[in-house]
Amino acid sequence: MLPVITSARDIKQKIKDFRTNALTVGFVPTMGALHEGHLSLVRQAKRENDKVVVSIFVNPLQFGKNEDFSKYPRTLERDCELLSGVGADMVFQPEPSEMYPPGFCTTVAVERLEERLCGKSRPGHFRGVAVVVLKLLHLVSPDIAYFGQKDFQQTAVIKRMVSDLSVDVTIKILPIVRNAGGLALSSRNAYLSETEKIDALCLYQSLTKAQSMGKAGIFDARKIAMEMEEIILARSSAIIDYISIVHPETLEDVPEARSGNVVAVAVRIGKTRLIDNVILS
Ligand code: AMP
Repeated sequence: MLPVITSARDIKQKIKDFRTNALTVGFVPTMGALHEGHLSLVRQAKRENDKVVVSIFVNPLQFGKNEDFSKYPRTLERDCELLSGVGADMVFQPEPSEMYPPGFCTTVAVERLEERLCGKSRPGHFRGVAVVVLKLLHLVSPDIAYFGQKDFQQTAVIKRMVSDLSVDVTIKILPIVRNAGGLALSSRNAYLSETEKIDALCLYQSLTKAQSMGKAGIFDARKIAMEMEEIILARSSAIIDYISIVHPETLEDVPEARSGNVVAVAVRIGKTRLIDNVILS
């Protein structure tokens, strides 16, 4: 059985024991409801470290008032089975009261980056992310922490925070895992009906269009965004939150889409908000 640690004190002690034995530690923070995207991070962590710790914590601080905190899927037993199968060594599953004891009032603001893209429609989201990731990094003190490109803005915020605050960890970003149709795997895909799952393919289709326009020598960001919009709005259940082409570190809009820039979209499919992105090559 995969050990599930729930207290900050115990996880610190376990990590201390690993260190005493000169073992390296890889860390994969998640909110659970695991899928192949999460497992790809764990597999990579296992290849590169002696021990792999996976956190499962549905972080209340990163959900807005009208968001899906209470209905977010929680599937611990299945998650543990999947994690055992890919060689994780330990799960850290703290209670919110363990992470945020009474009186907790600290935040981490990665200014400017937190306001762009998803930050506009999810105010406070990236402060919640930054606080929880920083706290988890302190508790687990891994050599390497693994994140998915799927949440591109999150990776930019975390890399900036780790650099600005001199956190002693290597951050690795791994590619997006998609289903056969191109839909980026996400725990929130569980909310989609069968027709919505088909409509949701428009995110990746629009991103593929952006890539092919670049390859055809069309760099005008506005033109690309307009073509993408057309693809997305052809789906009846789709409402666009944003289509942006940005610099990968500053997340500022670029007028011309060039190699290394990121094309990012957020689209509501029915009631479910989905995000996706590609890095232009
Ligand atoms: P979450 O449980 O949604 O907080 O995600 C935990 C980690 O898994 C984050 O670093 C995500 O970016 C990553 N992740 C989520 N979906 C995917 C995916 N489809 N491919 C690769 N990584 C992913």
